[in-house]
Amino acid sequence: MKKALKIILGIVLTIIILLAGFIIYDRATINNTYKIGEKNLKIPIFVYHDIVENEDEIQFDYMQTTKETFEKQILGLIKLGYKPISYEDLIAYNNGEKELSKKSFLITFDDGFEGVYKYAYPFAKQHNIPITSFVINYDVGTNGYYTWDEAREMDKSGVVSIYSHSLKHDEYNNYLPEDLLKDVTTSLEEIEKELGHSITKVFTYPYGLYNEEGKNILKDNGIIQNLTDNKVNKSKELNIYGLHRMYPLNDPVWKIILKIEYRSFRY
Ligand SMILES: [Zn+2]
Repeated sequence: MKKALKIILGIVLTIIILLAGFIIYDRATINNTYKIGEKNLKIPIFVYHDIVENEDEIQFDYMQTTKETFEKQILGLIKLGYKPISYEDLIAYNNGEKELSKKSFLITFDDGFEGVYKYAYPFAKQHNIPITSFVINYDVGTNGYYTWDEAREMDKSGVVSIYSHSLKHDEYNNYLPEDLLKDVTTSLEEIEKELGHSITKVFTYPYGLYNEEGKNILKDNGIIQNLTDNKVNKSKELNIYGLHRMYPLNDPVWKIILKIEYRSFRY
């Protein structure tokens, strides 16, 4: 009996020492930056849709996040050493032109809802956090979606990047590759025209639906592509023509971190 107790105590002590060592190492290296290939970084890209004021406005957890939860999530992650980056940062890193911090992540919003302008944008500006909004051209300025004037204002602030979520939010996996390309390039060109400058060619598939032919034709045309597959990017297999994105939903910070770790371990 005494021997068994000693063994258990030994195991518990070892776990505590290992855990403490890991935490000390993690905190000590929190501000380290790495070139691509140097370290297998986990780079989660968060997909949000709308930000709302009150909890009773939430219909689906993946579609609406409250302002309070969103701010808590982002500030909580930053406090723990996570660094929000832009697509420009990610691309420069992928090209070997820039180092990324150990715990980089991206914040994206699909569809171009009004809540992005009303809640996410002022928050991003206040804390100087880069965020990305993917617009559906046909919906800009219609009920529930922000206008081109608001898009220009956000774009000028320097903290919001606006890219394409297609012209009309179709199921593009059923499109011929050339028709998909036409839709996406028209969408990107129109955004450039509205913003008055050229933009990085970044596209997000509506409903996360795609096919390989479509993906290839966009890749051949240099268009960076986002999926919605609830996975986490790992820098050793980083593919900017098929970026994984995960849902933070209305989860607390600890749950988001667990999800990042679990998903990057699992997939
Ligand atoms: Zn969408």
